[in-house]
Amino acid sequence: MNLSLYIHVPFCAKKCNYCDFYSVPYSEPLAEEFVSALCEEWRILSEDAGLRDATVTTVFFGGGTPSILSIGQWQTLSESLLRHMNLAPDVEWTIECNPDSFTEEKAGLWLSMGVTRLTFGVQSFNNGELRDLGRPHSAQQALAALASPAVEQFKSVGLDLMYGLPHQTLESFRSTLFTAFSAPVIRHLSAYELTICKNTPFGRRHKLPLPGENAVVGMARLLFRTCRKNGFERYEISNFARSGHKCFHNEAYWNHSRYIGLGPAAHSYVHPNRWANVSDVGRYVSRLAAGSSPIDFKETIGGEQLASEMILLRLRTTEGLDENRFAQATGREFYAGKRRQVLDNVRERRQIDYRKPLWALTEDGMLVADAIIRDLV
Ligand code: SF4
Repeated sequence: MNLSLYIHVPFCAKKCNYCDFYSVPYSEPLAEEFVSALCEEWRILSEDAGLRDATVTTVFFGGGTPSILSIGQWQTLSESLLRHMNLAPDVEWTIECNPDSFTEEKAGLWLSMGVTRLTFGVQSFNNGELRDLGRPHSAQQALAALASPAVEQFKSVGLDLMYGLPHQTLESFRSTLFTAFSAPVIRHLSAYELTICKNTPFGRRHKLPLPGENAVVGMARLLFRTCRKNGFERYEISNFARSGHKCFHNEAYWNHSRYIGLGPAAHSYVHPNRWANVSDVGRYVSRLAAGSSPIDFKETIGGEQLASEMILLRLRTTEGLDENRFAQATGREFYAGKRRQVLDNVRERRQIDYRKPLWALTEDGMLVADAIIRDLV
């Protein structure tokens, strides 16, 4: 049985102004307890859920800020957790890094552990924008991390960027993209439009100096053009890669493949069941120390919900939604009922292409993907 593994590291140097992911400030004693709890969670899961013999094809350390863990904590993870897993010989193994907690020494250790991919949470190469976002690093720190000799030795290196930021202009975004593509190690780019979530400092602010809608569309188009020009193929609405550098771990989510999440707030999916761990690192640690399960929520995904999720995930990919797979998995026709009229309208506007059996949004369709998907589900 093949399996993707996600490990949520819930610590950050400080909270960014736009972030609604679960994370707390780093504390060494709590991080030590968290690492022990992760090992215990895998021990229980591998025995109870029969995962001991599963082959792990992708490992993704996300967060939070995985690179904030110390060398000693990474050594414990390597010896007490990952060594007890059956990793595929060609496992794709990613660690998310922030430039301020990345060190050459950690990179050397990750290489010796078998890590294959690094993704750097850079977001912008403009120091004013980084300050507005509340990021704990500067553009210079990001450039120094990307120029580190150890980074070159990973099979793949990616960047995360954002656009539609307070005070951002088309020119400042152009300059960020230019700097990003000037770094020769970059093989993958994720670029997300800023979303304002209610329970964040940005969400609580009365007024934010955000660029207008036309400026944001201009930034999105600039992003597509620049990626294309630099040989980065778009494979999902926000993800671009050079040939051979797509992230297989993300593809597992988009394909509804089997994945297990370890750590607080981590989600797992083994069809037709989904479950999530408690979103509190203290409770996560104490439950595991007491020998109880950290699972806080469980659901079974029925046909209608699976249909909605497949539409949501597959229409974000450039490959698109396969109507045969959709029918097989959900017991429903894709081009039927109310969806038929919506699809006809979207097709007339040239926002979706249909090449039997695949339905895929065009570049114009991707710009209004949220609205199209909302109408379809
Ligand atoms: S570093 Fe990432 S996870 Fe941590 S607060 Fe900032 S955006 Fe959120």
